[in-house]
Amino acid sequence: GRPTANGNKVSIGELPAIAPRSFPLCMHNMNTKLHEAHHLKHGARQQLGLFLKGIGLSVEESLAYWRAQFTKKMPADKFNKEYAYNIRYNYGLEGKRQDWSAFSCGKIINSPGANAAAAEHHGCPFRNFDEAQLRAQLQLMQVTGADSNFILEKVRGHHYQVACGKYFEAKHKGTTLIERELGGIEHPNQYFEESM
Ligand code: SF4
Repeated sequence: GRPTANGNKVSIGELPAIAPRSFPLCMHNMNTKLHEAHHLKHGARQQLGLFLKGIGLSVEESLAYWRAQFTKKMPADKFNKEYAYNIRYNYGLEGKRQDWSAFSCGKIINSPGANAAAAEHHGCPFRNFDEAQLRAQLQLMQVTGADSNFILEKVRGHHYQVACGKYFEAKHKGTTLIERELGGIEHPNQYFEESM
């Protein structure tokens, strides 16, 4: 896997301000759903959880972050019994005690698509969303006009990671990530580190 965050220490209090610009669309989408539904299913908990670990949250910060949302809909006791284990597991504190890394774009894109109707929000939006949904989502993120058209054209050609690179450029005007990275984003944590 890719290295973890670059020395930048991010705290959970900063995340609401940072996320819209510095989270890739996949993570922003899951993070938004977490705050709307106060819950995420397993696939999204894995993807977002390991990403948050990758940007530098400690296990205590991760537990606090998830707990704050989940306990809006369930008792703390249930959270501790059913969900805390997996967060600690991601940090190598349970089970196989392995220091798990966040998934790459390749792995996310090649995994079975999420079913949003069944409240599954993991996966890559450039791959999973239909065109109308993606266009609306881009508009919501203030990515419009030629940028949006370029992204949708790349998605039609199944170049999801190039589409994500263009999305990065649109959110970070003046950067030329697509040219430098020879085609696109390879890892959600790469997106975050480039942004920071
Ligand atoms: Fe996330 Fe990678 Fe898809 Fe970008 S290309 S939205 S970082 S999975």
